[in-house]
Amino acid sequence: MSITSFHPPVRILMGPGPSDVNPRILEAMSRPTIGHLDPIFIAMMDEMKGLLQYAFQTKNELTFSVSAPGSAGMETCFVNLLEPGDKVIICQNGVFGGRMKENAERCGAVPILVQDPWGAAVDPHKLEETLKSHPDAKVVAFVHAETSTGACSDVKTLVEIAHRNDCLTIVDTVTSLGGSPLKVDEWGIDAVYSGSQKCLSCTPGLSPVSFSERAAERIRTRQTKVQSWFLDLNLVMGYWGGGGKRAYHHTAPINALYGLHEALVLLQEEGLEKAWERHQRNHQALGAGIEAMGLRFVVKEEERLPQLNAIAIPEGIDDTTVRTRLLQEYGLEIGAGLGEMAGKIWRVGLMGYGSNPRNVLVFLGALEAVLHDLGADIEPGVAIRAARAVW
Ligand SMILES: *Cc1c(COP(=O)(O)O)cnc(C)c1O
Repeated sequence: MSITSFHPPVRILMGPGPSDVNPRILEAMSRPTIGHLDPIFIAMMDEMKGLLQYAFQTKNELTFSVSAPGSAGMETCFVNLLEPGDKVIICQNGVFGGRMKENAERCGAVPILVQDPWGAAVDPHKLEETLKSHPDAKVVAFVHAETSTGACSDVKTLVEIAHRNDCLTIVDTVTSLGGSPLKVDEWGIDAVYSGSQKCLSCTPGLSPVSFSERAAERIRTRQTKVQSWFLDLNLVMGYWGGGGKRAYHHTAPINALYGLHEALVLLQEEGLEKAWERHQRNHQALGAGIEAMGLRFVVKEEERLPQLNAIAIPEGIDDTTVRTRLLQEYGLEIGAGLGEMAGKIWRVGLMGYGSNPRNVLVFLGALEAVLHDLGADIEPGVAIRAARAVW
């Protein structure tokens, strides 16, 4: 055997996630592994609950991190809140709404889709109309920050409509948490899930979730067992319930949780509002540079996410050539389009630790160089000048 240790290169991660991980998080993850029932570990987890409540802006007791990636957070919400035969309205405006439908079907629930164009926010009027024709619906689900297109939907309005029609709400905030304003209690969200590797800038593999008392009550009073043993919150609650009475459910990913704890401490140190402002400012600088080069955004300005910039690939430019050269020559990763947007857009993430002037300037400079080589008519330096003017 001649296989030796794996040493990945240092990249600049400007795709749809994972984002650049703050070195403080990697350092936290290399601390000694202790037992998951060790009182010191339990005390750390109790702190983490408070930090997550701050990040989500909630007082929900049932707030913890699922020991698996954002997709498992999505599944946790669906399998716990839906029972066979339940009708769920799903607003779809990109890839992740489609996954919600898959989840609902696998719960034996009946999904009703409200479709909006990719690249646009969810239309509240369509939701309202659909709820009128389906008064027996029990849950409304949608994505706050659609990472596949870069569109941000109006959570507060959509939740209000759902509640007026006696529905609980499931909201995907995988890409919004820590990057865009999100107020779980003020907006009345019932079940919310996120991910560790987007605007929290932690390593992938954890999914913070939070459930309102109404949602917890629905879960406690289910007629049928949750189809997934691992994600059944009636069992998980005994584990994350806090205090000394914690019972074994599964072995927590100890060191990964040190990382999430550190990520949340970093967010608390900066302050949520400051983090939201930083994402917005760097997004505006990137946008100024993009437009100065003659490129354009896919999403209209008032619906744009600051942390995920969907840029239309210019006529005559080959998607893969550009992304490959950015990676090979500049160590810079950006995302390709997904689904119906494949080959048509680039997805440039400015998430968490990665939302900084250095990344904006490196990306603009590198993209300009590659496009110039491919024959695009761009005045050298124009993008960086435009971005700097914003700061
Ligand atoms: C990334 C993402 C997910 C899935 O998260 P994973 O950690 O990749 O499982 C779900 N929803 C949205 C909106 C996302 O951006």
